[in-house]
Amino acid sequence: MSDKTKWVYSFGAGHSDGDASLRNLLGGKGANLAEMASLGLPVPPGFTITTEVCTAFYANDRQYPGGLKDQVDAALAKIGEAVGMVFGDKTNPLLVSVRSGARASMPGMMDTVLNLGLTDETVKGLAKLSGDERFAYDSYRRFIQMYSDVVLEVDHHSFEELLETYKEERDYFLDTELSADDWKTIIEGYKKIVADALGKPFPQDPQEQLWGAIGAVFGSWRNERADTYRRLHHIPESWGTAVNVQAMVFGNMGETSATGVAFTRDPSTGDNHYYGEFLVNAQGEDVVAGIRTPQALTRRGREAMDEDAPSMEEAMPKAYAELEKVFEKLENHYRDMQDIEFTIQNEKLWMLQTRNGKRTATAALKIAVDMCKEGLISEEEAVCRVDPHSLDQLLHPSLDPDAPRDQLLTGLPASPGAASGEVVFNSDEAERLAQEGKPVILVRIETSPEDIHGMHAAKGIVTARGGMTSHAAVVARGMGRPCVCGAGDVKIDKSETFFTVGGRQVKKGETVTIDGGEGKVFAGAVPTVQPELSGDFATLMGWADKVRRMKVRANAETPHDAQVARDFGAEGIGLCRTEHMFFEADRIIAVREMILSEDKKGREAALAKLLPMQRSDFEELFRVMTGLPVTIRLLDPPLHEFLPHSDEEIEEVAKSSGMDAGKLKDRAHKLHEFNPMLGHRGCRLGVSYPEIYEMQVRAIIEAACSVAKETGEKVTPEIMVPLVAKREELAILKERIDAVALAVLKEKNVKLDYLVGTMIELPRAALTADEIAKDAEFFSFGTNDLTQTTFGLSRDDSAAFLPDYLRQGIFERDPFVTLDPEGVGALIHIAAEKGRKTRPEIKLGICGEHGGDPDSIRFVEGAGLDYVSCSPFRTPIARLAAAQAKLEKSDGGSTA
Ligand code: PEP
Ligand code: MG
Repeated sequence: MSDKTKWVYSFGAGHSDGDASLRNLLGGKGANLAEMASLGLPVPPGFTITTEVCTAFYANDRQYPGGLKDQVDAALAKIGEAVGMVFGDKTNPLLVSVRSGARASMPGMMDTVLNLGLTDETVKGLAKLSGDERFAYDSYRRFIQMYSDVVLEVDHHSFEELLETYKEERDYFLDTELSADDWKTIIEGYKKIVADALGKPFPQDPQEQLWGAIGAVFGSWRNERADTYRRLHHIPESWGTAVNVQAMVFGNMGETSATGVAFTRDPSTGDNHYYGEFLVNAQGEDVVAGIRTPQALTRRGREAMDEDAPSMEEAMPKAYAELEKVFEKLENHYRDMQDIEFTIQNEKLWMLQTRNGKRTATAALKIAVDMCKEGLISEEEAVCRVDPHSLDQLLHPSLDPDAPRDQLLTGLPASPGAASGEVVFNSDEAERLAQEGKPVILVRIETSPEDIHGMHAAKGIVTARGGMTSHAAVVARGMGRPCVCGAGDVKIDKSETFFTVGGRQVKKGETVTIDGGEGKVFAGAVPTVQPELSGDFATLMGWADKVRRMKVRANAETPHDAQVARDFGAEGIGLCRTEHMFFEADRIIAVREMILSEDKKGREAALAKLLPMQRSDFEELFRVMTGLPVTIRLLDPPLHEFLPHSDEEIEEVAKSSGMDAGKLKDRAHKLHEFNPMLGHRGCRLGVSYPEIYEMQVRAIIEAACSVAKETGEKVTPEIMVPLVAKREELAILKERIDAVALAVLKEKNVKLDYLVGTMIELPRAALTADEIAKDAEFFSFGTNDLTQTTFGLSRDDSAAFLPDYLRQGIFERDPFVTLDPEGVGALIHIAAEKGRKTRPEIKLGICGEHGGDPDSIRFVEGAGLDYVSCSPFRTPIARLAAAQAKLEKSDGGSTA
């Protein structure tokens, strides 16, 4: 890159250097400002400094690239020409806003500085020019406050305190009661705070101010909060942020001016009506900060909230009508719900931002389905519009309508869902308790980007201040956390040990339940019920199923889980972990008896007890899944999960088996392994103790025969051998499996197809898959163990140090959550290719936890496997993710 590189893109006055396609270069905000200006919408002129400058800045020891300064000067002059003002001029000063704008919207970074360019001199010019001295000095004090906070990093509380004291002493209540002279006095106070804190005066050179703000934006790209956010949302650091500099328009020029935020559809429900809030005589940040309570945008909104203050539709009908036209134009152009920021200056509308609006899962579904029906987008596009992760919100419980409840308070229904937990008042504590496994509800006066980690850790969030577009509301919706906002009656004690509401006191550690959909908070834990899924859900899932190539199965053992999975659209069972069928009290004793037996006879006695239990379990499973394949894995317990630990447990086994308790204890001691995950588990058990697998195969085939007879439907068991490393293991076991299966079929006189296959969960199995496929009719990738054995990273113990690996960027993701494409993925590719070479029709699937993770599903689609198998509740997520992966692969779902 040379001095000739274009670092700065201008927009405004009906022309733009860039457009929405340059999002990576201009950031989301910059690209959309350019696009809006080109569409002829009223956008204050401005320019964007590209994300490449940010990257170059960090690559070059925080130095700006050559040529940038000249390009900024030229672009600034261009803004001045467009509005007929000059930056830094004493009589006719151009003021600008400076905002960050990454590709993805990112709380935690420096957000906005308004009114930049004001100094002791230019403020006089502004006062004269506007004919409103009060407005000019109000703007100047806002600027000093904001700039000092975000650029100079002077603690904002000092400014707030000074203002509060000043107001109290003079019996002022609202900021709007302060006169120009009041603001002048306050400005002197503010400047003193800065000088005291920094040892030098507040900068009076507009150029210095501008470069200070630009530097603060770039600097904030790597601050701790931004780092945390990037980590949580998997945003690469290499993306960088852009900086947007734009001519100021003023929402604080009196009663005919205002500022607001709006959505073209309701972001909570997805209903097709305009939705938003505005504040008269205010500047943009006032709405988001939640300091004053905003008024509704529409009459409808006002009536729904039962408010008296007039809506913008009623109070400013002309500007509102103009805004409606902009909504329509933007939605048709972007073909998605828009989240808009605007300012009215003396009745004239100005657009400050548009972006695809964040929404709840319910709203995402409704908007996608509605827009498709309205002809705005195709079915494939609709499928791509819903984030599969967000379906979790819909599949989660809500409050049991019949359960008694003791209501504590109401607030705004900021983000739906129900959750119970202990009250905590700060984010660090929320995170700490959550790490200890405690559900917590974070209660705050308001939240700021510093609270992201606490909000993430909490089950739900309650704030005393702030509207539906406040930080807490927007972030909670994005995270899918239930949230109640603006609960104004809540008074949090300074000690942060209790809050009071309506004469009641709630202490830290007490349990409360929040209902984010209703905006209510209850004392104690209120029971919850599963949600009913809307028609939109079924419609969208239907569209997803139409385009999906991969099948989606579920990992399930119990008939209940299998039924849930089938109801959620699972197309079979991909993994029934038979050892999980043994966790119940009466069964685990028999399993322990079997494991602890010293000889075959003892094992056979225990197995005889287990056979009827297994058979009836399998019968139930086959009944729920009639017509669909069911993969049953033969016993694979790392022994430590089943060995008795306490004397009491030993005693139980002794009683049941008639064995001596002392001997049992010895035997348990002998069986103790130092590394059970790599120990006597999986097919190794089958090799050592053939009778265990023989019993299980008998139970499977007997159950299949009886359900096939009973229902007249096809029952197709797929018998799966775990933890195979060598072909010989499988060959020996398969021979035994076939012998038992054929014997049972003969006994029962039933014809029935069954398959024998293996899990691929060891690197050696993957690398020799051509050999293994000689005996395996299917492979199921056990990516939990395959990840463990590929990395040599314990599934059970790595949580303790994985955060270090994530923080230091060694891992971008937890490899147990999202499949490692380079290592584990390479093994999958090799195994799939080798397996198919030996046996072209071999069935390939994945049944590790990754089967329910959308990013991993994208990988699995790319590898061409036949199915994914995941936990029952994730089935819809997997169906949608599989459809999106297919569309992405064929590029059929690309959106404008
Ligand atoms: C696996 O290892 O991925 C797997 C599905 O088996 P389990 O989790 O039971 O070890
Ligand atoms: Mg495994």
